[in-house]
Amino acid sequence: MRYAIVSDIHANLAAFSAVLDHIGHQGGVEKVWCLGDVIGYGPDPNECIEKLRQTDHVWVAGNHDLGAIGKISTNEFNPDAAASCHWTGRQLSSEDVEYIENLPLVIEEGDFTLAHGSPREPIWEYLVSNSIARENFSCFTSQFCLVGHSHVPLVFSHEEDGPYSAGRFSDNVKLILGTSRLIINPGAVGQSRDGDPQASYALYDSQIGIMKLYRVPYDIRVTQDKMVERGLPTRQVARLSQGM
Ligand code: ZN
Repeated sequence: MRYAIVSDIHANLAAFSAVLDHIGHQGGVEKVWCLGDVIGYGPDPNECIEKLRQTDHVWVAGNHDLGAIGKISTNEFNPDAAASCHWTGRQLSSEDVEYIENLPLVIEEGDFTLAHGSPREPIWEYLVSNSIARENFSCFTSQFCLVGHSHVPLVFSHEEDGPYSAGRFSDNVKLILGTSRLIINPGAVGQSRDGDPQASYALYDSQIGIMKLYRVPYDIRVTQDKMVERGLPTRQVARLSQGM
């Protein structure tokens, strides 16, 4: 089976459409694994939810998904994120709210555990350091774990009774899924924060056991113009082209 792993779409329809086109050009997938934050920050929440729901998918809830429907408080959000979240909430249909309401926080799919932040704290934890990864390896039982939330493509690995290691998940390596346990972040579709403003996602082919990261260019101006039109926070508009 072939899977696309997408995270942090953040209501960026131009980025998500470019990624879906790119997936099509790679021969398509049977299933989309979405690691949460489909909405929040960006200008097109309904369209992104609809596009995802048109695919065969699983979606674990992110903090922005739950913040927008009022299931978690936005007190922990920075002021821009909270403002975007409240705007997003006002755009959602009652059907979307009900759908998000029922999203799982953690889900197991074959050899993979999927969570937005981390398996230990699926909504809030940023899994960005070796020490945090080390603690999280005991919080899931499958061989592999997929997370998003930090918007930075990363791979943490742990050999049984052996060392832990961490590194960037770059787009020019084939990640061979062997015997090591791995925690993998595919980066963000809709709001990169690793200095490269292109969309980021991963493809996994279970037959050959290989995962590959892709960076996909998209028309950032289209999203930025819509954000300005909708009165969304200007700092969030600017950071899209900086990839930070
Ligand atoms: Zn996010």
